[in-house]
Amino acid sequence: MMNSLPFPAKLNLAMAPTPFYCLERLSAQMGGPRIWIKRDDLTECGASGNKIRKLEYTLARVLEAGCDTLITSGGLQSNHCRATALLGARLGLKVHLLLRDEGGYDEIPDGNLLLDYLAGADISIYPKERFFREQDELLVDCQNHYRQQGRKPWLIPVGASDGHGVWGYIGCARELRADFDRAGISPDSIFHATGSGGTQAGLTAGAQLFDLGARVIGMAVCDNEAWFRDKVRNDLRHWRDEYRTGVDVDALAIRVNDLYIGPGYGVATDAVFDTIRQLAVGEGLVLDPVYSAKAFHGMLEEIRKGHLDGQDDIVFIHTGGLFGLEPQRRQLGFRRPPRRL
Ligand SMILES: *Cc1c(COP(=O)(O)O)cnc(C)c1O
Repeated sequence: MMNSLPFPAKLNLAMAPTPFYCLERLSAQMGGPRIWIKRDDLTECGASGNKIRKLEYTLARVLEAGCDTLITSGGLQSNHCRATALLGARLGLKVHLLLRDEGGYDEIPDGNLLLDYLAGADISIYPKERFFREQDELLVDCQNHYRQQGRKPWLIPVGASDGHGVWGYIGCARELRADFDRAGISPDSIFHATGSGGTQAGLTAGAQLFDLGARVIGMAVCDNEAWFRDKVRNDLRHWRDEYRTGVDVDALAIRVNDLYIGPGYGVATDAVFDTIRQLAVGEGLVLDPVYSAKAFHGMLEEIRKGHLDGQDDIVFIHTGGLFGLEPQRRQLGFRRPPRRL
C-alpha cells in the first residue's frame, strides 16, 4: 500500500521535511514519556504552520482547473486565511477573505489580519452572528461577484480541510515514518490541535498507511468529539472517493479529546497561558493560545493525570499559529509599556 499510494501532484511551497527532536528538559520535568516535537510551525515564514501542507495540494488543483481567484473564510485571526492570502500572492492569484469578527481584538489590524491586508487580499468582515447565519449565501454571492467580472473563483473550505487537503498530513505522516526511524523510536501517541479536521484526517490515514504504530489524538480547540468524528470521517470519505485510494476509511479509529477546549474557540484559560510561558522559557518554543498551546496543555494534563503511564515516547505536532499570540498579549499579562531606565 505504502509504495502504491497515488499521491497527486502538489506545489512545492513548504520548507519540508520539518525538524523533529526531543524536548529533553520538559520530558525530565514531567517524569512521564519522552516528549518529541514535529516543528510544523517552521514550514514557511509568513505562510508558516499546518495550512501550507494542505494548500500545496489544494492550490495544485486550483491551477490545474485554470482558476485565478481564491475565496475562503475563517475567524478574524485565522491562520488559514493568512496562509491563503500569502500563498495566493506568491502564485499571482487574487484572494478574497470572508472573516468572522468574534470581538475582543484591537481596532488596528494586527497578527494574522495585518498580514492578510499586507498580502493585498480583499477582506470582508462580518459580525459573528451574521456570519454564521448567512455564511453559505455570502460565499455564493462572493463567487458570483467574481464570475460576473469574468474571473474563475475557487472556493477553499474552512481550514482547507477537505479531500484535497487530507494529502498534506498524509505527507507529514510519511515524514514522521523517517523521523521515527532516524531517532530509533516507536511512539505510542501523536497529539495535535484539531480545529477543522483536515490535519487529523491526514494523520489518521497516514499513521496506518505508513505503519506509524501510534494512536493519533486530536485535541479539540472548538466543537465536541462527535462533531470532529463526523468531520474527519467526511474529509476522509471525500479523499477516498475523489482519489479512488481504495483505503477503508470507515475502519480507521478517529480519536478526539475534547476535555481541554476551555471557555471556547480562541479563548484560553490562565493555565494555557502558563504553559505558553513555561515552553518559551524552558525550551525556547513558542506556542499560540488558540491552537497549539491549548493542545499542548491538554497533553501535559493527560501526563499529569497518569493517562499516558507506560508510554515511552509521545509526539506533539506543532501546527504553528505564532501570529495569533500577539493579538492576545493582554491575556498573556502584558498590559502596559515596559519600564524604562
Ligand atoms: C488550523 C490550525 C490547526 C487545526 O488544524 P485543522 O486541520 O484545521 O484541524 C491547528 N493549529 C493551528 C496553529 C492552526 O492554524
